[in-house]
Amino acid sequence: MIIEIDDAGTGSPLGGIVIGILKGRLFDYEIIPVEYFQNEENNEYYNEIKEKTLESVLKLLRRVNFDPEEDIIHICRGNIFSHVHKYLWENKLKWTFTKIVSRLQDLVEFIYDLHLVELGVPRMLVKRLTTYGRYVTELFKWVALSPKDRQKIVKTRFPIWRKEWKYSEVSFKETISKRFTYCIECGETIPAGEKVITAIIKTPKREFKAYLHPQCYERLKFKGGEIELVRVNRCNA
Ligand SMILES: [Zn+2]
Repeated sequence: MIIEIDDAGTGSPLGGIVIGILKGRLFDYEIIPVEYFQNEENNEYYNEIKEKTLESVLKLLRRVNFDPEEDIIHICRGNIFSHVHKYLWENKLKWTFTKIVSRLQDLVEFIYDLHLVELGVPRMLVKRLTTYGRYVTELFKWVALSPKDRQKIVKTRFPIWRKEWKYSEVSFKETISKRFTYCIECGETIPAGEKVITAIIKTPKREFKAYLHPQCYERLKFKGGEIELVRVNRCNA
């Protein structure tokens, strides 16, 4: 039988990654936690992620009753799998590179979204994020609103974090929403013409805006123990 192996989350700035396997109707997955993506110094570290990926794949193969005689492994070329490719090659297993565009891709992406929700990212925000560019920016905006408790789920290895978002600063002001938008804090809609809190997020390179329901801002403020409407946040350098 064909066994497919794919990953999700390697390009996402938050959370760990998901490694998924599909054999017939049998689907299973492993999560490599975000801690593996938080070492900013050590070059060897990336090997550690690749080793962990190999370990996860071997576990998954056992769980779907991999049969080396009958099964052919289809796996993507992703660099994260390089130790797996080497293992398959060295052990003379039947395998091939493929771009996974099957049901497995939907399944791993779904599990990855769940993983983000479990880590505290608002469910509705995750559901809104479709295109990749916006995806990264919107998730970082959400982190920037409360960096003290949210940066622990950031893949801090990513240069875009280390060089830019780590130094983001936020100020808030009360305005009226000019157009239909959504709240960065809860992901729900904000109709035009309503009272809204605008977050102005400045990184060393760019300036962004995000919008919050007044009640979501209040909750955020309460959590941070802040009193004033206009305030400045600085991530721990
Ligand atoms: Zn909200």
